[in-house]
Amino acid sequence: MHIKKILFTISLSLLGFTTLIHGSKTAESQESTEPLLAASEDTDEQAFQENVNQLFDPSIAGIDTTSWNNGKINTVWFDYRTMDTTIAIPLVDSSCSRVFTLPCNGYITSPFGPRNGFWHFGTDIKVKVGDTIRCVFNGLVRIIQNDKRGYGKVVVVRHHNGLETLYGHLSKTLVKTNDTICSGEVIGLGGNTGRSTGSHLHLEVRYCGEPFNPACIIDFEKASLLNDTLLLAKNHFSYLTELRKTIYHTIRKGDNLGAIARRYRTSVRSICALNGIKSTTILKIGRKIVVRKPAQIEIAGKSTIKDSTQSRL
Ligand SMILES: [Zn+2]
Repeated sequence: MHIKKILFTISLSLLGFTTLIHGSKTAESQESTEPLLAASEDTDEQAFQENVNQLFDPSIAGIDTTSWNNGKINTVWFDYRTMDTTIAIPLVDSSCSRVFTLPCNGYITSPFGPRNGFWHFGTDIKVKVGDTIRCVFNGLVRIIQNDKRGYGKVVVVRHHNGLETLYGHLSKTLVKTNDTICSGEVIGLGGNTGRSTGSHLHLEVRYCGEPFNPACIIDFEKASLLNDTLLLAKNHFSYLTELRKTIYHTIRKGDNLGAIARRYRTSVRSICALNGIKSTTILKIGRKIVVRKPAQIEIAGKSTIKDSTQSRL
Protein backbone atom coordinates (compact mmCIF):
# COMPACT_ATOMS: atom_id res chain seq x y z
CA MET A 1 0.00 0.00 0.00
CA HIS A 2 2.85 2.32 0.82
CA ILE A 3 4.33 1.87 -2.67
CA LYS A 4 0.92 2.44 -4.12
CA LYS A 5 0.60 5.73 -2.32
CA ILE A 6 3.91 6.88 -3.73
CA LEU A 7 2.89 5.79 -7.20
CA PHE A 8 -0.39 7.55 -6.73
CA THR A 9 1.32 10.83 -5.95
CA ILE A 10 3.87 10.45 -8.73
CA SER A 11 1.20 9.59 -11.26
CA LEU A 12 -0.80 12.62 -10.33
CA SER A 13 2.21 14.83 -10.86
CA LEU A 14 3.12 13.21 -14.15
CA LEU A 15 -0.34 13.58 -15.46
CA GLY A 16 -0.45 17.16 -14.30
CA PHE A 17 -3.38 16.58 -12.05
CA THR A 18 -3.72 19.08 -9.34
CA THR A 19 -7.19 17.86 -9.05
CA LEU A 20 -9.31 14.94 -8.62
CA ILE A 21 -12.71 15.54 -9.99
CA HIS A 22 -14.93 12.88 -11.35
CA GLY A 23 -18.15 12.39 -13.24
CA SER A 24 -20.51 15.10 -14.24
CA LYS A 25 -23.14 13.85 -11.85
CA THR A 26 -21.01 14.97 -8.96
CA ALA A 27 -22.97 16.92 -6.46
CA GLU A 28 -21.28 18.81 -3.73
CA SER A 29 -23.81 20.05 -1.31
CA GLN A 30 -21.31 20.64 1.43
CA GLU A 31 -18.57 23.12 0.85
CA SER A 32 -15.12 21.71 1.23
CA THR A 33 -13.01 23.84 3.46
CA GLU A 34 -9.82 21.86 3.17
CA PRO A 35 -9.94 19.84 -0.02
CA LEU A 36 -7.00 17.51 -0.30
CA LEU A 37 -6.98 17.94 -4.03
CA ALA A 38 -8.31 21.16 -5.44
CA ALA A 39 -10.97 21.06 -8.12
CA SER A 40 -10.37 21.83 -11.75
CA GLU A 41 -12.74 21.55 -14.67
CA ASP A 42 -9.98 20.50 -17.07
CA THR A 43 -9.20 17.14 -15.64
CA ASP A 44 -9.17 14.30 -18.08
CA GLU A 45 -11.53 12.15 -16.11
CA GLN A 46 -11.15 9.00 -18.13
CA ALA A 47 -7.37 9.03 -17.93
CA PHE A 48 -7.56 9.81 -14.28
CA GLN A 49 -9.99 6.99 -13.58
CA GLU A 50 -7.72 4.58 -15.48
CA ASN A 51 -4.88 5.75 -13.31
CA VAL A 52 -6.90 5.17 -10.18
CA ASN A 53 -7.92 1.73 -11.42
CA GLN A 54 -4.28 0.82 -11.90
CA LEU A 55 -3.27 2.04 -8.49
CA PHE A 56 -6.11 0.32 -6.74
CA ASP A 57 -6.04 -2.99 -8.52
CA PRO A 58 -9.46 -4.49 -7.74
CA SER A 59 -7.92 -7.90 -7.31
CA ILE A 60 -5.89 -6.49 -4.44
CA ALA A 61 -8.03 -3.76 -3.01
CA GLY A 62 -11.27 -5.56 -3.84
CA ILE A 63 -12.96 -2.21 -3.89
CA ASP A 64 -14.74 -0.43 -6.69
CA THR A 65 -12.85 2.80 -7.27
CA THR A 66 -15.30 4.22 -9.78
CA SER A 67 -15.62 7.96 -9.27
CA TRP A 68 -12.79 7.93 -6.80
CA ASN A 69 -12.47 11.44 -5.46
CA ASN A 70 -10.45 12.64 -2.49
CA GLY A 71 -11.85 16.16 -2.56
CA LYS A 72 -15.61 15.90 -2.73
CA ILE A 73 -17.73 14.14 -0.17
CA ASN A 74 -20.76 13.80 -2.42
CA THR A 75 -19.93 11.86 -5.54
CA VAL A 76 -23.16 10.46 -6.87
CA TRP A 77 -22.61 8.08 -9.77
CA PHE A 78 -25.66 5.92 -9.38
CA ASP A 79 -29.22 6.66 -10.45
CA TYR A 80 -31.53 4.74 -8.16
CA ARG A 81 -34.40 5.29 -10.59
CA THR A 82 -32.78 2.86 -12.99
CA MET A 83 -32.84 0.06 -10.43
CA ASP A 84 -35.25 -2.57 -11.62
CA THR A 85 -33.89 -5.48 -9.68
CA THR A 86 -32.78 -6.06 -6.16
CA ILE A 87 -29.02 -5.93 -5.70
CA ALA A 88 -27.55 -8.43 -3.28
CA ILE A 89 -24.62 -6.90 -1.40
CA PRO A 90 -22.63 -9.23 0.81
CA LEU A 91 -21.69 -7.24 3.89
CA VAL A 92 -19.53 -9.78 5.66
CA ASP A 93 -17.43 -12.66 4.47
CA SER A 94 -15.42 -14.41 7.13
CA SER A 95 -13.40 -16.28 4.51
CA CYS A 96 -11.59 -13.05 3.67
CA SER A 97 -11.88 -11.35 7.07
CA ARG A 98 -14.62 -9.01 5.99
CA VAL A 99 -16.43 -8.47 9.24
CA PHE A 100 -18.67 -5.87 10.82
CA THR A 101 -17.90 -3.55 13.72
CA LEU A 102 -20.26 -1.10 15.38
CA PRO A 103 -18.62 2.35 14.99
CA CYS A 104 -19.17 3.29 18.65
CA ASN A 105 -21.27 2.58 21.68
CA GLY A 106 -24.05 5.01 22.29
CA TYR A 107 -27.74 5.55 21.88
CA ILE A 108 -29.37 7.03 18.81
CA THR A 109 -30.23 10.69 19.25
CA SER A 110 -31.61 11.27 15.77
CA PRO A 111 -32.47 8.64 13.15
CA PHE A 112 -32.27 8.85 9.38
CA GLY A 113 -35.33 10.56 7.94
CA PRO A 114 -37.33 13.76 8.05
CA ARG A 115 -36.36 16.19 10.77
CA ASN A 116 -37.83 19.63 11.33
CA GLY A 117 -39.00 19.86 7.76
CA PHE A 118 -35.66 18.77 6.30
CA TRP A 119 -34.05 15.47 5.62
CA HIS A 120 -31.48 13.92 7.91
CA PHE A 121 -29.26 11.68 5.78
CA GLY A 122 -27.62 9.77 8.60
CA THR A 123 -28.05 8.30 12.05
CA ASP A 124 -26.81 10.34 15.01
CA ILE A 125 -25.26 8.39 17.82
CA LYS A 126 -24.43 9.96 21.18
CA VAL A 127 -20.72 9.96 21.93
CA LYS A 128 -18.46 12.00 24.15
CA VAL A 129 -15.59 14.06 22.79
CA GLY A 130 -12.63 11.73 22.52
CA ASP A 131 -14.63 8.50 22.27
CA THR A 132 -13.19 5.91 19.92
CA ILE A 133 -14.86 5.72 16.49
CA ARG A 134 -14.21 2.59 14.49
CA CYS A 135 -14.56 1.71 10.84
CA VAL A 136 -17.65 -0.42 10.17
CA PHE A 137 -16.27 -2.58 7.33
CA ASN A 138 -12.94 -3.10 5.63
CA GLY A 139 -12.29 -0.36 3.16
CA LEU A 140 -10.27 2.34 1.53
CA VAL A 141 -10.28 5.86 2.97
CA ARG A 142 -11.62 8.24 0.34
CA ILE A 143 -12.10 11.48 2.28
CA ILE A 144 -10.47 13.18 5.21
CA GLN A 145 -11.78 16.69 5.49
CA ASN A 146 -12.55 19.48 7.87
CA ASP A 147 -15.92 20.70 6.69
CA LYS A 148 -16.26 23.51 9.19
CA ARG A 149 -19.74 24.55 8.16
CA GLY A 150 -21.07 21.05 7.80
CA TYR A 151 -19.79 17.64 8.74
CA GLY A 152 -16.88 19.03 10.72
CA LYS A 153 -13.92 16.67 10.80
CA VAL A 154 -15.16 13.85 8.65
CA VAL A 155 -13.96 10.52 7.30
CA VAL A 156 -15.51 8.71 4.33
CA VAL A 157 -14.52 5.11 3.69
CA ARG A 158 -15.31 3.17 0.49
CA HIS A 159 -16.16 -0.46 1.07
CA HIS A 160 -16.73 -3.38 -1.23
CA ASN A 161 -19.59 -3.31 -3.74
CA GLY A 162 -19.98 0.45 -3.69
CA LEU A 163 -21.02 0.97 -0.07
CA GLU A 164 -19.49 3.92 1.70
CA THR A 165 -19.71 4.97 5.34
CA LEU A 166 -19.31 8.55 6.51
CA TYR A 167 -18.32 9.55 10.04
CA GLY A 168 -18.98 13.20 10.87
CA HIS A 169 -18.34 15.73 13.66
CA LEU A 170 -15.14 14.02 14.83
CA SER A 171 -12.73 15.83 17.15
CA LYS A 172 -9.78 14.12 15.49
CA THR A 173 -9.18 11.96 12.43
CA LEU A 174 -6.65 9.18 12.75
CA VAL A 175 -6.38 7.81 9.21
CA LYS A 176 -5.19 9.23 5.90
CA THR A 177 -6.72 9.31 2.46
CA ASN A 178 -6.08 6.19 0.36
CA ASP A 179 -5.30 4.16 3.50
CA THR A 180 -6.54 0.60 3.41
CA ILE A 181 -8.20 -0.05 6.72
CA CYS A 182 -9.97 -2.93 8.40
CA SER A 183 -13.28 -3.22 10.13
CA GLY A 184 -12.80 -2.20 13.75
CA GLU A 185 -9.79 0.01 13.06
CA VAL A 186 -9.98 3.37 14.82
CA ILE A 187 -10.63 6.09 12.24
CA GLY A 188 -11.00 9.00 14.65
CA LEU A 189 -12.34 10.34 17.91
CA GLY A 190 -15.86 11.47 18.64
CA GLY A 191 -16.48 15.19 18.74
CA ASN A 192 -18.68 18.18 18.16
CA THR A 193 -17.07 19.81 15.11
CA GLY A 194 -18.84 21.43 12.18
CA ARG A 195 -22.52 22.23 12.31
CA SER A 196 -23.30 20.29 15.42
CA THR A 197 -24.93 21.00 18.72
CA GLY A 198 -23.58 18.55 21.22
CA SER A 199 -21.04 15.82 20.67
CA HIS A 200 -22.31 12.96 18.53
CA LEU A 201 -21.34 10.78 15.61
CA HIS A 202 -23.20 11.41 12.38
CA LEU A 203 -23.06 8.08 10.57
CA GLU A 204 -24.11 7.78 6.94
CA VAL A 205 -24.27 4.68 4.80
CA ARG A 206 -24.27 5.21 1.05
CA TYR A 207 -24.48 3.06 -2.02
CA CYS A 208 -22.65 4.57 -5.00
CA GLY A 209 -22.97 7.97 -3.42
CA GLU A 210 -26.64 7.81 -2.42
CA PRO A 211 -27.42 7.69 1.30
CA PHE A 212 -29.89 5.20 2.69
CA ASN A 213 -30.99 4.42 6.20
CA PRO A 214 -28.14 2.87 8.25
CA ALA A 215 -30.82 1.04 10.21
CA CYS A 216 -31.44 -1.01 7.05
CA ILE A 217 -28.19 -2.82 7.73
CA ILE A 218 -27.37 -2.19 11.41
CA ASP A 219 -29.36 -3.21 14.46
CA PHE A 220 -28.03 -0.51 16.77
CA GLU A 221 -29.60 -2.00 19.90
CA LYS A 222 -28.07 -5.40 19.33
CA ALA A 223 -24.83 -3.89 18.01
CA SER A 224 -24.91 -6.23 15.04
CA LEU A 225 -25.84 -6.44 11.40
CA LEU A 226 -29.43 -7.23 10.55
CA ASN A 227 -28.28 -9.65 7.85
CA ASP A 228 -25.03 -10.74 6.31
CA THR A 229 -26.32 -9.72 2.90
CA LEU A 230 -28.09 -6.47 2.09
CA LEU A 231 -30.85 -6.75 -0.48
CA LEU A 232 -30.82 -3.25 -1.87
CA ALA A 233 -33.85 -2.09 -3.83
CA LYS A 234 -35.29 1.08 -5.28
CA ASN A 235 -37.40 1.65 -2.18
CA HIS A 236 -34.26 2.30 -0.13
CA PHE A 237 -33.94 5.53 -2.12
CA SER A 238 -37.57 6.37 -2.76
CA TYR A 239 -37.35 9.31 -0.33
CA LEU A 240 -35.10 11.03 -2.87
CA THR A 241 -37.91 11.36 -5.38
CA GLU A 242 -39.79 13.78 -3.18
CA LEU A 243 -36.64 15.45 -1.99
CA ARG A 244 -35.44 16.26 -5.48
CA LYS A 245 -38.56 17.82 -6.78
CA THR A 246 -38.27 21.44 -7.72
CA ILE A 247 -40.71 23.37 -5.57
CA TYR A 248 -42.62 26.32 -7.00
CA HIS A 249 -44.76 28.99 -5.45
CA THR A 250 -47.37 31.06 -7.24
CA ILE A 251 -47.45 34.64 -6.03
CA ARG A 252 -50.68 35.62 -4.30
CA LYS A 253 -51.98 38.88 -3.01
CA GLY A 254 -50.15 39.93 0.14
CA ASP A 255 -47.12 37.71 -0.47
CA ASN A 256 -43.64 39.00 0.18
CA LEU A 257 -40.30 37.28 -0.26
CA GLY A 258 -39.56 37.16 3.47
CA ALA A 259 -42.80 35.35 4.22
CA ILE A 260 -42.33 32.99 1.28
CA ALA A 261 -38.78 32.19 2.41
CA ARG A 262 -39.97 31.42 5.93
CA ARG A 263 -42.82 29.28 4.67
CA TYR A 264 -40.52 27.10 2.55
CA ARG A 265 -37.67 27.20 5.07
CA THR A 266 -35.30 28.89 2.69
CA SER A 267 -33.86 32.37 2.40
CA VAL A 268 -34.74 35.47 0.40
CA ARG A 269 -31.22 35.38 -1.01
CA SER A 270 -31.68 31.83 -2.20
CA ILE A 271 -35.02 32.57 -3.85
CA CYS A 272 -33.54 35.62 -5.57
CA ALA A 273 -30.63 33.56 -6.89
CA LEU A 274 -32.92 30.83 -8.18
CA ASN A 275 -35.14 33.24 -10.04
CA GLY A 276 -32.67 35.91 -11.09
CA ILE A 277 -34.50 38.61 -9.16
CA LYS A 278 -33.59 41.14 -6.48
CA SER A 279 -35.05 41.33 -3.02
CA THR A 280 -36.67 44.58 -4.08
CA THR A 281 -38.26 43.14 -7.24
CA ILE A 282 -42.01 43.60 -7.35
CA LEU A 283 -43.62 40.26 -8.04
CA LYS A 284 -46.83 40.18 -10.00
CA ILE A 285 -49.71 38.16 -8.67
CA GLY A 286 -49.88 34.85 -10.51
CA ARG A 287 -46.16 34.67 -11.24
CA LYS A 288 -44.67 31.27 -10.55
CA ILE A 289 -41.29 31.33 -8.82
CA VAL A 290 -38.89 28.56 -7.86
CA VAL A 291 -38.44 28.33 -4.12
CA ARG A 292 -36.25 25.28 -3.95
CA LYS A 293 -34.17 23.24 -6.34
CA PRO A 294 -33.28 19.60 -5.87
CA ALA A 295 -30.45 19.37 -3.37
CA GLN A 296 -28.22 16.81 -4.99
CA ILE A 297 -27.99 18.15 -8.49
CA GLU A 298 -26.79 21.58 -7.55
CA ILE A 299 -23.27 22.63 -8.30
CA ALA A 300 -21.09 23.59 -5.38
CA GLY A 301 -20.51 27.29 -5.10
CA LYS A 302 -23.69 28.30 -6.90
CA SER A 303 -25.37 27.57 -3.74
CA THR A 304 -29.04 27.84 -3.46
CA ILE A 305 -28.97 24.62 -1.62
CA LYS A 306 -27.71 25.36 1.82
CA ASP A 307 -31.16 25.58 3.22
CA SER A 308 -32.26 22.31 1.78
CA THR A 309 -29.20 20.47 2.99
CA GLN A 310 -28.98 21.81 6.48
CA SER A 311 -30.46 18.66 7.83
CA ARG A 312 -27.85 16.41 6.31
CA LEU A 313 -25.87 16.48 9.51
ZN1 LIG B 1 -26.68 13.66 11.89
